[in-house]
Amino acid sequence: MTLQERIADVEARVARACAASGRDVDGVNVIAVTKYVSLDTMSAVLEAGLEHVAESRWQDAEPKWKALGNQGTWHFIGHLQTNKVKDVLGKFAYIHSLDRISLAKELHKKAEAAGIEVKAFLQVNISGEDTKFGLSPEEVPDFLRGISAFHRIKVVGLMTMAPHEEDPELTRPVFRGLRELRDELNALALTPEPIQELSMGMSNDFEVAIQEGATWVRLGTVLVGHEEGA
Ligand SMILES: *Cc1c(COP(=O)(O)O)cnc(C)c1O
Repeated sequence: MTLQERIADVEARVARACAASGRDVDGVNVIAVTKYVSLDTMSAVLEAGLEHVAESRWQDAEPKWKALGNQGTWHFIGHLQTNKVKDVLGKFAYIHSLDRISLAKELHKKAEAAGIEVKAFLQVNISGEDTKFGLSPEEVPDFLRGISAFHRIKVVGLMTMAPHEEDPELTRPVFRGLRELRDELNALALTPEPIQELSMGMSNDFEVAIQEGATWVRLGTVLVGHEEGA
């Protein structure tokens, strides 16, 4: 399939998942995950009109940013080392992987110095797999209290990754768990404004994630492909 065909196919699948769950397609944003593709392919992705792009390592993203950073809206979705905050801040509009106080502290400090706001998703490990980064659901309320003074950080949402399953239906409890956590947190009113966004769903499981309330899906392989050695 060409890039155009993949985009059309994903749009149709998103629309079907929305229809199946009574949701408006406008409530679901697609992020093109370009970490597996070359600079040229990423350029084509932006040319094709996809607004949101994501990378997971600054080392890989840097040459792409230098060439294409004036286009699109960039999301950082990988584990973020504290010493990389200075590199990504101000370039990536959204950080999807806020998972510890030390990182929040550094983001706030650097954002304060730059006079900007950081939009962040808290990464939560709903599945409990020990190979995954993220706060446990139980830790999130205290985490939000702990960062409440970091006014440069705006927590816009929660992010999770489901285990890879052959049958995507098996991921449903993970996505449902993230949605329920968001609603429980909002009932506690720990943030100045309610947390709205749910960043969940990848190539293998995005339709289930949409049915469970995803507002951002992060799509690599199914949307932009996976190039060897990119
Ligand atoms: C790589 C990655 C994705 C995209 O993966 P695909 O399965 O290719 O869609 C989404 N989210 C995160 C956090 C990733 O690291």
